[in-house]
Amino acid sequence: MRWNEASDSTDPSTPVLFGTKGLVRSVQTPEFSGITFHEVLAKSALNKVPQSSSMPFSWTVNPYRGCSHACVYCFARNTHRYLDLDSGTDFDRQVVVKINIADVLAAELARPSWARDHVALGTNTDPYQRAEGRYSLMPGIITALAEQSTPMSILTKGTLLRRDLPLLARVAEDAPVEISMSIAVHDDALQQSLEPGTPTTKARLATVRAAAELGFDVTVFMMPIMPKLTDSRDHLESALRAIKGAGAARVVYGALHLRPGAREWFFEWLERHRPELLPRYRRMYAGSSYASTEYRRWLSERINPLIDRYDLRGRSDDDYPATSRMRGRPGLSRTPQKAGEPAPTQQLAAPSQQALF
Ligand code: SF4
Repeated sequence: MRWNEASDSTDPSTPVLFGTKGLVRSVQTPEFSGITFHEVLAKSALNKVPQSSSMPFSWTVNPYRGCSHACVYCFARNTHRYLDLDSGTDFDRQVVVKINIADVLAAELARPSWARDHVALGTNTDPYQRAEGRYSLMPGIITALAEQSTPMSILTKGTLLRRDLPLLARVAEDAPVEISMSIAVHDDALQQSLEPGTPTTKARLATVRAAAELGFDVTVFMMPIMPKLTDSRDHLESALRAIKGAGAARVVYGALHLRPGAREWFFEWLERHRPELLPRYRRMYAGSSYASTEYRRWLSERINPLIDRYDLRGRSDDDYPATSRMRGRPGLSRTPQKAGEPAPTQQLAAPSQQALF
């Protein structure tokens, strides 16, 4: 690490987190201008997913809280409020780093009671956000899971995943590993505006290619698909063509989901960049965090034939039995849902209907 260039935070505007509980230090460095990393000692690593959840996995591990990828629509934003931080700029710039997470995880997995259930990485915030290049927490996490023959899945927008692909390929010899890349916006200017801290679409596609070349059956999450922004036939088709060209095995898609915390942030973005769409979005998301059933039905009717044409048939939660993570090998159970991205659109069997947007 180049933390010799870093400084402990003396900026009086930097929030004091959680009193001092668990906090080792807060750090700023010229490499990450405007971002403060709050290094903490975590007491636990594995998070149990509530039984009532529709998530297709039981456990998650999240090395970071907050995410410098800064996606405007991210629905993990609200979780920052539990730290007395805001769901807007603070979520993007005040990143909590669980510096001891690999050791804590290894100890938890060593318990005789550990049943080797599937563990999902990247369900709350992105494990390959930029900070991972400095803290390198993921190799320790992957190794801890592999040593206990625990199936794992990774969902990310981070091209830093490439660093760990050789390790993941070795681990996949003994335990199922599923890799998913989130790529929703295939218009460069729009992508940089909506996801300002993320690698480009092109770079993410190249990462898909690199994983596919190592034998992984990579899933691409086209989430969220945003009404009147990314749902045109041209956009969907060029996205699917590029995803197929990168060697992905399947796509999973879903319409924009706007929870409180993300909703205000997204509406503010619309007001600045696409004010003509604001009234329509306000109407669609007035009573629910989800896009209307009519819109989702319209979207599925538009995109499903294209997915079939490119032979990228994703599966909904309902029909996601064992999928192979490496071609020709027995594999892992299900593709996870990522924070900021809604659950996969279910198959909507109703007849064609115009979008009410
Ligand atoms: S959607 Fe994912 S990558 Fe984007 S800010 Fe949220 S956690 Fe980070």
